Amino acid sequence: MKEPLAKLEFRDVARGRALQARLERAMERAGRAVTVMHVCGSHEQAIARYGLRARFPADLRVQMGPGCPVCVTDAPEIDACVALATRGVRVLTYGDMLRVPGRARSLDDARAAGARVEVIYAATQAAEIARATEEPVVFFATGFETTAVATAAVLLAEPPANLFVLSAHKWVPAAMDVVASSEGSAIEGYLAAGHAATITGCGVFEPFVSRYRRPVVVAGFEPLDILSGLVLLVEQVIEGKAEVVNAFPRCVSRDGNRRALDALWRVFEPGDGDWRGIARVPSGDLRLRPQLAAHDASVRFAAELDAAPTPVARADAAECRCGGIMTGLLQPTDCRLFGTSCRPDAPVGACMVSTEGVCRIWHEHGLGRASAAEGREGSREPT
Ligand code: SF4
Repeated sequence: MKEPLAKLEFRDVARGRALQARLERAMERAGRAVTVMHVCGSHEQAIARYGLRARFPADLRVQMGPGCPVCVTDAPEIDACVALATRGVRVLTYGDMLRVPGRARSLDDARAAGARVEVIYAATQAAEIARATEEPVVFFATGFETTAVATAAVLLAEPPANLFVLSAHKWVPAAMDVVASSEGSAIEGYLAAGHAATITGCGVFEPFVSRYRRPVVVAGFEPLDILSGLVLLVEQVIEGKAEVVNAFPRCVSRDGNRRALDALWRVFEPGDGDWRGIARVPSGDLRLRPQLAAHDASVRFAAELDAAPTPVARADAAECRCGGIMTGLLQPTDCRLFGTSCRPDAPVGACMVSTEGVCRIWHEHGLGRASAAEGREGSREPT
């Protein structure tokens, strides 16, 4: 069967080589190291899958930011869910949250001990399950603005009275402020996630660019999307420019998806919240509005959550460096546990659990293993 033409266009080798050469010329003009950040686990996945990191110029450092929703879900948020499930409440969650460690246990650990935890694949499924029963059902709703819109749509479509949402949804643009203002940050430009910008629009980054004088380029997820996004980003950096550039115009507009944004802000309001290992992010959490208190699990089960004992954190969790990695200060190989006591089959930190977590991606693609010898992080071809 023939591959669709559009797909071939975005993986065209000759175009890729031309972009690589342009990136190299830009770095030669810079005459110094440049550090940029992509703010999305899907970008890191694509970079690893297509071996792009091995093609980046030696002085171009591409860091991953706080763009893995599983990784930034705070341990106490998981603990709350574990506490409810352990008390016999029926809890529904996306599969990638199952193995993320809370302070002491993951939802998977709780399920193995008899707690009621079920995996769902879409927010609509939570409503279907609730409709089929009379008992309370809690949907542990995680993810960024993309999945928050799906949760919002369910709550705006006459949900059953026994459906309760425990929201751990987060708003990515707020975390970019934290990264840009964190002490020691060397990030000179940001590659923003095309799928999230499809919802928010690229205009959402304009205040950030004005505030920090750092360029933002919105990019898609095909190899040529990423390479062209990096070219446009690095060229801005070396020319001293700071603008929002939409390098994903086939999906992203300046104003985004107005219907989706309307649904999002009718259901959620921004609140300050802790992002795992990173910081307290002002306006970084998406909380259910008071009008939806009848479906808010944190209201319905407030007494149970207040009564839950605070779990004792496992000892090795203190060594996890996910926070430093997701703020662009460290690489996975800077963590002493990477690939030794922290592996995908035995994760210590959240970045080793999710398929969008940078530690898991680097581990599975063999990235970083040869870095010490080569003097570059992640410079080896994926295995
Ligand atoms: Fe955390 Fe494991 Fe990554 Fe270390 S290797 S930073 S413990 S997830």
